[in-house]
Amino acid sequence: MASGSAAIGNGAESARQPVVTRFAPSPTGFLHIGGARTALFNWLFARHHGGKALLRIEDTDRARSTEAAIDAILDGLDWLGLDYDDAPVFQSHRADRHAEVANKLLAAGHAYKCFATAEELEEMRAQQRANKQPMRYDGRWRDRDPSEAPEGAPFVVRLKTPTSGETVIEDAVQGSVKVKNVEIDDYILLRSDGTPTYMLAVVVDDHDMGVTHVIRGDDHLNNAFRQLPIYRAMQEIEGGWDLPVYAHIPLIHGADGAKLSKRHGAMGVDAYRDELGLLPEAVDNYLLRLGWGHGDQEQFTREEAIAFFDLPAVGKSPSRFDFKKLANMNGLYMREADDERLANLAASRIAALEPAFDAERDHGLLAQAMPSLKARAKNLDELAEGSLFLFRKRPLPLDEKAQALLTEDSRQLLADISVQLKLCSDWTSEPLETSLKAMAEQRGLGLGKLAQPLRAALTGQATSPGIFDVLVLLGRDESLARIDAQADCVPAKDGAITNP
Ligand code: GLU
Repeated sequence: MASGSAAIGNGAESARQPVVTRFAPSPTGFLHIGGARTALFNWLFARHHGGKALLRIEDTDRARSTEAAIDAILDGLDWLGLDYDDAPVFQSHRADRHAEVANKLLAAGHAYKCFATAEELEEMRAQQRANKQPMRYDGRWRDRDPSEAPEGAPFVVRLKTPTSGETVIEDAVQGSVKVKNVEIDDYILLRSDGTPTYMLAVVVDDHDMGVTHVIRGDDHLNNAFRQLPIYRAMQEIEGGWDLPVYAHIPLIHGADGAKLSKRHGAMGVDAYRDELGLLPEAVDNYLLRLGWGHGDQEQFTREEAIAFFDLPAVGKSPSRFDFKKLANMNGLYMREADDERLANLAASRIAALEPAFDAERDHGLLAQAMPSLKARAKNLDELAEGSLFLFRKRPLPLDEKAQALLTEDSRQLLADISVQLKLCSDWTSEPLETSLKAMAEQRGLGLGKLAQPLRAALTGQATSPGIFDVLVLLGRDESLARIDAQADCVPAKDGAITNP
């Protein structure tokens, strides 16, 4: 391979081709939040440019890749609403093709066989360590003839990388990045058992999939410098190996600036759905805003995100993952979400909390209550909890604050409210409000004085949706029964309130 300075273009030649991006997760664990953001950026970039979004499962590490992780990744992407234009490519199925390319490089003199034994290499490293030299393969077989090796000795195939000059990458996010070629070692393309290495597989797959833009975490920036020589060599050998545009996006840190850990939210996106009860559009929007911006707009519809997303607005510095912000954002999306959909999403959570809930029978009531419930919930768990009063059977459990509200006086008041409400033949919000307001006025009380014990009796809690909504949702019979149950209540000897 020719050495010397090599400025790698920013892919102006690729700009003429339709955009093809890929998300290339290694299925060795869950789809974490950083991976999800990389997937989202790739997907949006492809959609923005009317190109193709592809998915490649990098399962060459057979020992660490699992079916469960593959399923979790596919499930997570599906949940985030990221669809792909072709079936996923499984890197492990393409080992023959990877070896074919390695052999072409070998035949053309861009790669060579290295017969160094493990012991020899260990000795080399020990010496480098002792001399405080950088630890890298020293090219000992680069210029040797394979005939010098013992008959039948095992070998690996190494890439002949340039030894002088520097390589410059015009990264679409990082800008111009330079590395001295001497720092790039002659790394292994094929192991002694003939299996391809990850570094080779990525390049061959990106080329064969027609990938024009490689958008990935900046922990892969060093790899780009190692991957480039393969493109350049193959371009020389057979042409058609245009370099992709590279866009290395900064990693996500915790809110405190430290590397993201589980405490910070480095868990699978399935946990965002299952454990945190978040909506995918909120997670998508939060991820979108993590390292990318469009003026000071905070919320984007999918259509807006596709219309506005592009690489120049991706920031260069690490973004901070802030759970609180994500939770608040979810609250905003809850408010906008469709009532029927929320009712379906909350059903299993409600069922887990309240055995009296019957998802099928109660769906209508839940959906009807949704406009007032969703305004008070930041996630599906809060939504489920907030809805329980609708389904609980009498005697209703009273929380502490509700108990405190149900004093002897207020129980007397409840008895009067019951009489007043029984006169209401039209059990809808307006007449109910008129009726209670009239009663409050008559007694020189604020409406709140009536509403608080009423709320405690109707919901068992001190907070709930608006009291007239609650009355309407529960209906006449159930409302009056709950009020009467508390109005008839007597304080026990120790002062605790018992519920008949
Ligand atoms: N499989 C790599 C990872 O999960 C990504 C490789 C790439 O994007 O080139 O980190």
